[in-house]
Amino acid sequence: MSDGYSIWVLEYSHVLEYPESGIVYGQHNKGTRKMPYGYVFLKGNDRNIMVDVGFDNAAYGGELARQFGVIAWQSPSVVLEEIGVAPEDIDTVIVTHAHFDHFGNVSAFPNATFYLQERELTKWVWALTLPREQQYFSIGIDPDDVLRGVELAKNGRLKTVSGDVHDLLPGINVWAAHDTHTFGCMFVDVQAGDDEDTRFVLAGDNVYAYENLEGVEKDGVYRPVGLSINTANGVFTLAQMMDLVGGRVKQIIPVHENRLPDVFPSRETKHGLHVTEVHLREGDKSYVA
Ligand SMILES: [Zn+2]
Repeated sequence: MSDGYSIWVLEYSHVLEYPESGIVYGQHNKGTRKMPYGYVFLKGNDRNIMVDVGFDNAAYGGELARQFGVIAWQSPSVVLEEIGVAPEDIDTVIVTHAHFDHFGNVSAFPNATFYLQERELTKWVWALTLPREQQYFSIGIDPDDVLRGVELAKNGRLKTVSGDVHDLLPGINVWAAHDTHTFGCMFVDVQAGDDEDTRFVLAGDNVYAYENLEGVEKDGVYRPVGLSINTANGVFTLAQMMDLVGGRVKQIIPVHENRLPDVFPSRETKHGLHVTEVHLREGDKSYVA
């Protein structure tokens, strides 16, 4: 049995002018928009859980951030302090995929056990061995993150999963979305409260913005994200997510969606980053009030 979860999305940096075509597949010459970079914190069932960990603004992580135009970065200790948590308090991390902005800061969470699709780790090792001409597959990957993943395994702190896992943790399922945004992506669904309105899908990067789910100008046609291994599988994954929440788009949570703070209670921190409170369990303290 699960006693539910409080859920916060924490912006830790952003890109001010991200191309629309990178967010919604096929939207060429449509300008740019702000794209936040974020991760999710879940509190419940005597656990402190992160979904993804962001990147470390140093070494190659910092170099990738500069390439993508990511600014206003703050460390997990600064970002988590906004909701009264320290990185050392995190016991569990679910990694949706191994791109640098999701898996690039495992070192900041010394006490956590990490969950990742087995295919995500092994396929990145494979992708790094491809000839230079085929390095498209490695966009967004810091090879040192792959090494740090192996290091976690060596230290008994990595648990790989293969495919869908029901009740990975109380009230939390993970769903494989292989060969979509990455080779071994997954997304997470959380029963945060008692009813169907409190089931949330943490989309990873198979949703960047509401247009992926609602279509362009809400035409109702699923549009995959702008960076994919396979766009067809991306469309089927969007359909699967919508099924899980009965078509209620706002129960699908994309961390890169800049309108998320308008949909849920939120506030802006002194660093110009947003804390968004997706769900609050009875008895838990609000950090946006
Ligand atoms: Zn991302």
